[in-house]
Amino acid sequence: MDQVILRHVTKRFTTKTLGDIVAVDDFNLSVHEGECFSFLGPSGCGKSTTLRMIAGFEDLSEGEIELCGRPVSIKEKNLYVPPEERGLGMVFQSFAVWPHMNVFDNVAFPLQIQKVNKTEIAQRVKEAMKHTSLTGLEEVFPSDLSGGQQQRIALARAIVTQPKVMLLDEPLSNLDPKLRETMRFEIKELQRKFNFTIIFVTHDQSEAMAISDRMMVCDMGKIMQIDTPENLYNRPNSRFVHSFLGESTFLNVVLQDGKVYAEGDVEHPLDLEIPGDADRRMVVATRPNSIDLAGPDGEGYPTKIKKRIFLTDRTEYLVPIGSQTLKIQVPHRISFAEGDACKVRFVSPMWYPAEDEAAEKERQRRQLV
Ligand code: ATP
Repeated sequence: MDQVILRHVTKRFTTKTLGDIVAVDDFNLSVHEGECFSFLGPSGCGKSTTLRMIAGFEDLSEGEIELCGRPVSIKEKNLYVPPEERGLGMVFQSFAVWPHMNVFDNVAFPLQIQKVNKTEIAQRVKEAMKHTSLTGLEEVFPSDLSGGQQQRIALARAIVTQPKVMLLDEPLSNLDPKLRETMRFEIKELQRKFNFTIIFVTHDQSEAMAISDRMMVCDMGKIMQIDTPENLYNRPNSRFVHSFLGESTFLNVVLQDGKVYAEGDVEHPLDLEIPGDADRRMVVATRPNSIDLAGPDGEGYPTKIKKRIFLTDRTEYLVPIGSQTLKIQVPHRISFAEGDACKVRFVSPMWYPAEDEAAEKERQRRQLV
């Protein structure tokens, strides 16, 4: 069953500097029961606004939202269920724990609001604290605890209500990298135990990849692609998604007389199969570790090593192709010196339309708001 459904959800804001802006443009998506689904994208792409509409903190301009089979926002019918009646668990970056309450009271608070009886509160708080490794800290005040422990309080407070859906908005961004990794694992463990559905908002792609069953990548208020982390990485449907996930190498090419040339070199064609729908100018995209680098007797485009950079687990070479420079990463056993002649060959690259400058300008403009 789909537990979170968005149909044609749109949100417009009137901003002081930019005038009207479509922060979320016709979002359609379904999150399945027990799934960990991430919203991923650069600053200003509409992730938090979408999450806030699901939570009920923000009304929609158009569209409808359904949670666990129940409509909670339908703009056309003016239906709007307030946040406290949506039955969601939430951990937000800015949703700090209450400093004037000890850990027990922090975790118990949502149950006290729901007027749950004292015996049940004690039992459920104990359980939630056990699962978030907080047992023994009941009387302690949050200011005496570490950042990780404080975030565990927020998690315990969210799971104590036994929600079916948990909204997590950059919950780990204030923690150091090591702790982030541990907490990621703990969140997944909690999900396995309680079988809730997670919607996780982050701009950190490796975090999203590690935690998600599926992810939505968005840009400038538009959904760019929804898929598993693996498919998004291996089969990105746009240059934007390609560059947003993992390291990318892009090469501008020109198609002429059935051959492919790197911009700036009309003498040496590249050994590439041209897709049927290619325009005259295209971008060939790949990962720095998916390019063959061979000696001058090998196969591929003839060039020279411009720069050699030793990385811990591989070596990086910068190699000119026409007027551009390609980044190639290979295992240490393949070794070249700067100035060595070499041949480079793309292995199954992706093809995208030539860069859209207007889109890039709009992206930068939005990030300034
Ligand atoms: P970040 O990662 O920086 O939080 P985001 O992807 O979550 O970014 P949103 O916060 O959803 O992006 O914002 C999307 C767009 O809507 C941005 O251009 C933002 O400036 C604008 N916006 C968000 N909230 C408001 C508001 N209350 N009033 C006016 N504009 C807003």
